[in-house]
Amino acid sequence: MSSSDIDFIATEARFGAQNYAPIGVVLSRGEGVWVWDTEGNRYLDCLSAYSAVSQGHCHPKILAAMVEQAHRLTLTSRAFHNDQLALFYEEIAALTGSHKVLPMNSGAEAVESAIKSVRKWGYEVKGVPDGQAEIIVCANNFHGRTLGIVGFSTDPETHGHFGPFAPGFKIIPFGDAAALEQAITPNTVAFLVEPIQGEAGVVIPPAGYFTKVRELCTANNVMLVLDEIQTGLGRTGKLLAEQHEGIEADVTLLGKALSGGFYPVSAVLSNNDVLGTLRPGQHGSTFGGNPLACAVARAAMRVLVEEGMIENAARQGARFLDGLKDIRANTIREVRGRGLMLAVELHPEAGRARRYCEALQGKGILAKDTHEQTIRIAPPLVITSDQVDWALERLATTLTQDFS
Ligand SMILES: *Cc1c(COP(=O)(O)O)cnc(C)c1O
Repeated sequence: MSSSDIDFIATEARFGAQNYAPIGVVLSRGEGVWVWDTEGNRYLDCLSAYSAVSQGHCHPKILAAMVEQAHRLTLTSRAFHNDQLALFYEEIAALTGSHKVLPMNSGAEAVESAIKSVRKWGYEVKGVPDGQAEIIVCANNFHGRTLGIVGFSTDPETHGHFGPFAPGFKIIPFGDAAALEQAITPNTVAFLVEPIQGEAGVVIPPAGYFTKVRELCTANNVMLVLDEIQTGLGRTGKLLAEQHEGIEADVTLLGKALSGGFYPVSAVLSNNDVLGTLRPGQHGSTFGGNPLACAVARAAMRVLVEEGMIENAARQGARFLDGLKDIRANTIREVRGRGLMLAVELHPEAGRARRYCEALQGKGILAKDTHEQTIRIAPPLVITSDQVDWALERLATTLTQDFS
């Protein structure tokens, strides 16, 4: 069947589980910041697959590394060594300053792996009585979709009717260091938190929050686990979002842009203590650390640094944020962001953000609403000043319309 013979949207709806409500565009090609639909219309991608395509669509160097490796060796399982894993370890450790690495595939798997590891650390190093480990998390968190993770989500859509859930999690407000201090007990093994809450609508904590969090975790021997799956790898204008706060996590989770959008690759990074507790047979993944993933991730990290994408994210992010702040529209309640992780929150009276995203689609911009009132804007980190200005013009005309 040729692409013109099939109604992609209707066919997806007929056969697919309806767990998404996509914007009505069918994409067939991408290059850099641009994607094209099946009819040849071009759009500026302002979602970047939730920050997985930070290096731009189909980056030629990542593509070349993937093709070259796919010709040689794709999967060995961890039953044998392969000649890419050691190089991946060396390069990701050097880039992030980590001591130990656990390679996984999806972001949710990295989060699950971190939860298992900090619990084990709690029992074997900290001396928490078996079965008593507590992990503190934040309200409005997003850490993925597995059963373990959705059990400590506060979003009813995310966890409703999926229980029963695992115990051992305590939920506190985000951005409230005093709440963390109160929640810590002798059995607390970790505080799992996003540096900026992405899915919650790009929520930035108050200045100084993470300095206090770091102090509390250190003072109480609690592992600070930063979920940088969305904020990491340059998205906020620094390699890791923790650098804005001048702190270091004990455990850092990466995913999404770790493969530049070519392949699911995630990683748990830690000091020696936490991942050091895992012994052979205690954790694993058939695809985790496979040579194809490692070759892709190595190229994805290399281009991020070599092509100055992190600095560009800082520069263009500031330009984009200033431009958004200059838009005078009654529909806008607040504009916020750091680097190229941006959001426009609309007034409730302005109508749903979805309508604005659909209008933007008509003007050649793909963006995604989150939580009814917020338009998230996160283009690939290779965006130029001209492209930022081009997007701002279209955003300005769209946001001054009224879709209530
Ligand atoms: C996307 C995301 C995840 C989950 O990653 P998947 O690859 O979808 O499993 C976890 N944490 C954060 C902060 C994310 O943005």
